[in-house]
Amino acid sequence: MKILVINAGSSSLKYQLMDPDSGDVFAKGLCERIGIDGRLTHKAPAKDIKVVSEIPMPTHAEAITAVLDILVDPVNGVVSSVDEIDAVGHRVVHGGMKFAESCLIDEACLEAVRACIPLGPLHNPANLLGIEACQKILPNKPQVAVFDTAYHMTMPPKAYRYAIPDEYYEKDSLRRYGFHGTSHRYIAKRVEALEGKGLKVINCHLGNGSSLAAILDGKCQDTSMGLSPLCGVPMGTRVGDIDTTVAQYICKNYNKSMDEVMTILNKKSGVFGLSGGVSSDFRDLEAAAAQGNEKAQLALDKFAYEVKKYIGAYAAALGGLDVLVFTAGVGENGVLMRSMICEGLEFLGVKLDQEKNKLRGDERIISAADSKVKIWVIPTNEELMIAQDTAALAK
Ligand code: AMP
Repeated sequence: MKILVINAGSSSLKYQLMDPDSGDVFAKGLCERIGIDGRLTHKAPAKDIKVVSEIPMPTHAEAITAVLDILVDPVNGVVSSVDEIDAVGHRVVHGGMKFAESCLIDEACLEAVRACIPLGPLHNPANLLGIEACQKILPNKPQVAVFDTAYHMTMPPKAYRYAIPDEYYEKDSLRRYGFHGTSHRYIAKRVEALEGKGLKVINCHLGNGSSLAAILDGKCQDTSMGLSPLCGVPMGTRVGDIDTTVAQYICKNYNKSMDEVMTILNKKSGVFGLSGGVSSDFRDLEAAAAQGNEKAQLALDKFAYEVKKYIGAYAAALGGLDVLVFTAGVGENGVLMRSMICEGLEFLGVKLDQEKNKLRGDERIISAADSKVKIWVIPTNEELMIAQDTAALAK
């Protein structure tokens, strides 16, 4: 089968055409500047092709058309006709309490995704634009929605409820949902294949956005993001967990609206804010810290400290720990950060092998031979999960 995986943002759209069984990627790329002008970057790995072209994309529909045109292009394409594409899988960020699994898109599913817009106002409208464009251009292809929140629906109420008056949960569904669920689910499956069933696992998805998940026998028990992807550990530009009074203080004393404060907490905080604006990129922070920049060093220390604290908390929540996993940009590549996080966790049975840790981007065990807890680096593959769910539901 050939599945087209779409991840639509408000002005960008990522795509991959892949085989859900082998995981082979025939082509992948990115449409940027949708609604502004339009640029397509397309790669076909097997043909060693990379093309960048300026194509007008007033809406997501033109972006999808540009993707399909290049997929069937005699030189740069990878299929002879759109008929070879069996189905389309869409990443949808917020599935609210409605979706514990992926869903074949029909009018009822679309209505439910629209109903989740108040919970995911930054992402769901953009995801819907991608779905609606594909429905218009590929009306006869099965389309599937795969939700970031779905994997976390196995959390027990004590993990997902906030200690606020219960009417806000009963009436408004305000609770912890968690994100990066498709990535956490992929890792849970890989750990089962590598280490077996029934294990207590903590997955550290550390990238520009970061979240941890406490996993028992493949199922999520707790996760660090909440109603939105703002909370948990500090991130590239997101603040992570914080006393809400800080928001009120900035509002009052700097004469800002709540929306302006949310922008500060989402876009100007995290390691970027803490480093005094050095960078949200961990490579830049490491380079600056190595040159003696104390704020960059503090940002790295804070990040490692908060991730370490979550690992301790989740080991307590799970009643032990068998496997610790690092994934996503920083988790897969951050040799120094992995070492900083694991340092001092020996009391939990976490012992890193510093030589094995010197790797970037490969699936490999990096714990010492006598470590009670297995430590793995596992590159995540959310697209493969989306393609596999799509293939299963399209059949
Ligand atoms: P992601 O959001 O998963 O794509 O991760 C992106 C982040 O990974 C970037 O912001 C970088 O900070 C981080 N990253 C990528 N390569 C490295 C590396 N070699 N060392 C440390 N961090 C890295």
